[in-house]
Amino acid sequence: MSKTAAELVEYGVKIANAGLVAGAGGNISAREDGLIWLKPSGLAMDDMTPDDLCGIKLDDGKQISGPHRPTSEVNMHLFTYRERPDIRAIFHTHSPWASGIISSGAEIKPMFAEFVCDLGRTANLPYITPTTDRLAEAVAQQMKTCDTLFMENHGILAIGCTMKQAYYRCVVVEDAAKSMLAALIAGKPRFLTNEEVEELKNLDAAKHRITMMEGVRD
Ligand code: 13P
Ligand code: ZN
Repeated sequence: MSKTAAELVEYGVKIANAGLVAGAGGNISAREDGLIWLKPSGLAMDDMTPDDLCGIKLDDGKQISGPHRPTSEVNMHLFTYRERPDIRAIFHTHSPWASGIISSGAEIKPMFAEFVCDLGRTANLPYITPTTDRLAEAVAQQMKTCDTLFMENHGILAIGCTMKQAYYRCVVVEDAAKSMLAALIAGKPRFLTNEEVEELKNLDAAKHRITMMEGVRD
C-alpha cells in the first residue's frame, strides 16, 4: 500500500474531525512522484480507505488506480500541481466560519502571528462555478504566487510542501475566522499593521516553524 495514500486518508479524518467539511464537501490530494492521489467524488473525507483513493498520472491525467471516479475538482488539483512542482499536497475545504467571512465582502486579515507565519501568501478568488475548468484554471493561475486561497462562496484551498503544512494552513484559517468574529462581537478587531507583519516574517521562530511544517522536501 502507498504510504502517501495512507497518510492522505489520515489527514482526511483530521480535516473532518476539525469540522472543516460537511458530508462529501471539499477534496484533498497528495503527490507521490508523478502520481497524484485524490479523494473520490462524493465520498466524505472520514469515510475513505487508502484503496478508495484515485491514483492519477500528473502528466496526462490518466487514472491508474482506485475503483471510484476522482473528485469533481480533479483539474483544480492537477492544474495547480503543474504550476507548482515544489508542492506535495493540496487541501480544499468548505471551512464554515472562514467561508462565511470570505463570502460576506469582509476580508480575513492578520490579527495573530500564526496567520503571518503559517499561511504563506494569501489571495482572494471571486466566485466561479465549482467543478468547472474555469475554476481549475483560475485557481492554478492564482496558486503560482499564493499558498492559501480564499474562495468566495465556496471555501479555501491550501497547498503545502507536506500534508502537515497544508493541514496547518486549513486549521489556522478557520481559527483566524473565529477570532475575527469574536473580535467583531466584542468590539472592533485590531489587525496587525504592515510593520508588525514584516517584523513577524523575519523572526527566527517563524523560519523554524516553516521548517517544521515543510519537513523533508524533494
Ligand atoms: P467532490 O465530492 O467531487 O470532491 O466535490 C466536493 C467539492 O468540494 C466540490 O467543490
Ligand atoms: Zn469545494
